[in-house]
Amino acid sequence: MVKVYIVGAGPGDPELITVKAVKLLELADVVVYDRLIPVDVLKHVKEGAELIYVGKEPGRHSMEQDEINELLLRKALEGKVIVRLHGGDPFIFGRGFEECQYLIRNGVECEAVPGVTSAIAAPEQYLIPILLRGVSSSVAFVTGREDPGKGFREVDFRRLATSVGTIVILMGASEACRIAGELIQGGLDSSTPVAVVTRAYMSGSRVQFMTLGEVAGCRITVENPSVIIVGKSVRLSPLYKDAVSHST
Ligand code: SAH
Repeated sequence: MVKVYIVGAGPGDPELITVKAVKLLELADVVVYDRLIPVDVLKHVKEGAELIYVGKEPGRHSMEQDEINELLLRKALEGKVIVRLHGGDPFIFGRGFEECQYLIRNGVECEAVPGVTSAIAAPEQYLIPILLRGVSSSVAFVTGREDPGKGFREVDFRRLATSVGTIVILMGASEACRIAGELIQGGLDSSTPVAVVTRAYMSGSRVQFMTLGEVAGCRITVENPSVIIVGKSVRLSPLYKDAVSHST
């Protein structure tokens, strides 16, 4: 039976890909890949394999999801070994699960291969312990941008504010200021530390430390791609102490 591998490529550093993913890339006849994958991982692909870019820039899609699904199915039915490569982990706000569903519905087997997600890697690169005994015993991974077509908001930042130890926001660049305001309205102190990690494990990666009140003030621009981390574990980063002492 034909099978498509839905594979995570990790957050940016080509060494943060799994051994399993590398083996599959070596084997693949067709690799269908995203925008946020570390391009260097494509060096594992064998000569003569077909490489297809289906990246989605915020607001500009080079290929619609339906077309990607159909492409995967068509190539699979040709009997080829297909790797669909996603940035980070394929099931963390990727469309990996939808692709699997579509393939399975159409009689094609699907195997998911986990990847290191930016939701975990971005804070970790800057030594922010999102889950730590005595400091933060729960974490919420949330999207900062929801599909406006759905007509309602699933993430209620006011209610989330005080219900978890650490909040990790993906796709939040354009909504950071609104979200910070809602977190404060929901009961978080405006002095709560925030880290914005941009381009984690990619060239030019950086962290900015600030307070929730500063983000809510709307004077901060958050670039894409960034992960926003809110909660007191941010303050534990040794780099946070440096940033604060340098700015005082
Ligand atoms: N499946 C991916 C996430 C896809 S959603 C994963 O597991 O990492 C896209 C969002 O992920 C971006 O808007 C950004 O918030 C985050 N992101 C992905 N790669 C990133 C990186 N290297 N640095 C910072 N944020 C990143």
